[in-house]
This record gives sequence, C-alpha cells and structure tokens, in this order.
Amino acid sequence: MKILLIEDNDRLAGFVRTGLAAAGFVTDLTGRVEDALAAVATARYDAIVLDLGLPDGDGMEVVKSVRQPGGVTPILVLTSRDGLRDRVDSLNGGADDYLLKPFAMEELVARLKALLRRPGHALGLVLTCGNLTFDTVAREARVDGRPITLSRRELDLLELMLRRAGRVVPREIMEDGVYSIDDEIGSNSLEVLVHRLRKKLQAEEATLKIHTLRGVGYLLSEDGA
Ligand code: CA
Repeated sequence: MKILLIEDNDRLAGFVRTGLAAAGFVTDLTGRVEDALAAVATARYDAIVLDLGLPDGDGMEVVKSVRQPGGVTPILVLTSRDGLRDRVDSLNGGADDYLLKPFAMEELVARLKALLRRPGHALGLVLTCGNLTFDTVAREARVDGRPITLSRRELDLLELMLRRAGRVVPREIMEDGVYSIDDEIGSNSLEVLVHRLRKKLQAEEATLKIHTLRGVGYLLSEDGA
C-alpha cells in the first residue's frame, strides 16, 4: 500500500512517516502543493494524507486535482484549523475524512485503514492463489493455513502480484509499489527481492509461481497453470 503524505512540518512529517511504515505502508513525502500535484499526476497512490496549510498554497488544490478527473483515491485531511467551516469545506471539496492536529498515530492509521476498506478500495479482503492466502488487513500470508514469515517488502511485493495474478506486471509498477522515492534502488534490487520471495514460497511449499519475463516484468500464477 502506497501513501502520499503532504505535510510541510518536518517533525510531524517524520513522525507520521515512521508510524505509517510501522503499519506496513510505503510513503512518499512532499511539503509543497506544486510537488504534490506533480506526484499525483505521475504516480499511483492507494491513499493521500494531506495537510491543508502548505507554504505555496492550499492543500485543497491537491484534492481538486485528484477529484476533477474522477479520481477516487481516498484522501484524509490533517488540519490545525479548528473552524467547522474548514472541515465542512474540505469534505464538500472531495476529502473523505479529516483529523484535527494534534492527533494520535494510532487514530490516523485506523482511519486510513477504514477509508481503504470502503467498497471499491483495496484493503479489507483476502487474496488467494493456489494454497496461499493473503489477508490485506492483518498483512499476513498463509500457506495451507500456516502463517509464513515475510519481510515488509516481501509482503508488499506479494500483495501487488496477487492483485494482478495471471497478468504480466511491468517491473516499473513493481518498483513503484514496493519502494518509495527516497529509497536507493539498485539496478537489480527488484530481482534480489523477487528471488528471496520465491525461495521462501518454495520452502513453504506454496503452490504458486513467480515467472520472469525478461526485460518486461513478472507474472504470478498457480503452480502448473
Ligand atoms: Ca502546514
């Protein structure tokens, strides 16, 4: 799950980012409206966490730019403005929920998960392929009902592939979903990650396979399919 966090207060941004990482989210961070508009225009995010008061404009510009072309990405607004008007305006303007600063990280994560569980959004379901199941809320993979141990990145990669099982997943989409902008990605980081995940799945006797399509990407299918 990839989140765009738009917050210009460095300390708060760092705190939120750390909390999101602990909850299993990959986060891209920006503190300016201009950069946020560029990010939503080019990358795919599962949700957006947005501060309204930004140095180069109003965070609502980002909401507009996501909603006007019909985008449904959940948006949670962070506001220190305690006026009812601002909160109503942000919801009317297309935000899905808001949190007043200061807030507890636990509440932010719970609200984000609630937004992602809404029909049409990505969380709150169990993905299945072969004898493997993946609970997207608990972020837990099981083979024949036995929980298996995977790293955060391996889980991200597995989830991304399960959502596109049977289809070719281009490597750019995989890198985009598993790493954030600030991660140092080597030319073979993705290969190494896929290799590790494959070995673990094999060791657990999972009946699914990650096929390599050289120069294109990867494809996940049931073993033998
Ligand atoms: Ca601010």
